[in-house]
Amino acid sequence: MTKAARAGLTASHGEIFNLIRLTPNISRSEIARETALALSTASSRVDSLIQNGLVVEVGQLESRGGRRAIGLTVNGAAGRFGIILVAPGSQQVRVVDFSGAVLASHPLPNLSLGNPEIAMKELFSELVTLVASVPGTDEIACVCVAVDSLVEYPTGTLMTPAPLPGWHGFSVRASLAQLTDVPVLVEKLANLEAIAERLEVPHRTPDLMAVVLGDHIGCGIVIKGELYRGAFGAAGEIGHSSVLAESVVPCTCSAPSCLDSTASARAIAVLMRRAGLSVDSVADVVEIGNSNSIEGSEIVRTAGRLIGGTIANAINLINPDQLVISGPLSECVPLIRAVRSVVLEQALSLNTSQMHIRVSGLGADSALRGAAVSALDFLLSVERIDGILADS
Ligand SMILES: [Zn+2]
Repeated sequence: MTKAARAGLTASHGEIFNLIRLTPNISRSEIARETALALSTASSRVDSLIQNGLVVEVGQLESRGGRRAIGLTVNGAAGRFGIILVAPGSQQVRVVDFSGAVLASHPLPNLSLGNPEIAMKELFSELVTLVASVPGTDEIACVCVAVDSLVEYPTGTLMTPAPLPGWHGFSVRASLAQLTDVPVLVEKLANLEAIAERLEVPHRTPDLMAVVLGDHIGCGIVIKGELYRGAFGAAGEIGHSSVLAESVVPCTCSAPSCLDSTASARAIAVLMRRAGLSVDSVADVVEIGNSNSIEGSEIVRTAGRLIGGTIANAINLINPDQLVISGPLSECVPLIRAVRSVVLEQALSLNTSQMHIRVSGLGADSALRGAAVSALDFLLSVERIDGILADS
């Protein structure tokens, strides 16, 4: 049985398109094999996708059997969409095409986030300007807003705790609906990190926890290849799990002493300053943690043990096959060693023995990458593509 057949695919146009999207340069015969369709049927459906401007042929692939096959890929020119990143100090607008290629990016780190309504208007205006600067159509198919905040699901309303004072209860969707008719997606950063990491896993249906370690500690969860937000959007909020340690920095959550308030980069910075070390930024925290400073190393190891204990509890609940750690603190070697050590010590061995633990290789751009994948998942869903082909 083929992988596609195992997945229960019926190989509609939309499903074939999805296969092309997720398998770079796949050939017609490979599609036929994956979907269990006759080569003529698969080829005819691919031709329809090409005629509708959704797929393009890409040169000739070397074939093991002697014959040369034409590869297929998504036609980037089929459309474009916008991404808006709302995060303290790293606001950005971006234009991406349907192949996932970034057409233009514009960082706006100095844009004020003090008033959410004004900030969203300015960010959308910057996005419109950026879209117009790229040759081609001025139309965008949707806007994906990546926001450093808890996001209520399915309303898309921002909620505390969040590092955006004054944004609690703000509806990004309602705000942008006054400016555009296109669909608006709103997602928290940790969820987007998880979506980006999903594509880094060789098999397509991972159970994955993407833990983000920085000024706040977040986690995005993917179950069987699909993002899991929970009933109200609060799934993965491990940063607000109670821990047995003294709170170092305040948090607006209800836990008396949460992981964020004891082991985040903000908390570590305060502890380092108390120890007489000079710390101005997360980069300083990482540098001191990686240095020969005995006090600094002990502080980051203690934080790593607290983080590891919380992750171990979450692993026992979720049983992921992938644990990915990202964010600026992931570069702090003794902290990550402590996390890994406690996870392996405290989570059930049935959970950890086959689980793959790694530090993300996607860098600071990972949430924006995830935003692009999230928008494409929405715009190019099987249902949408089948609808386009049915109307053609
Ligand atoms: Zn908290």
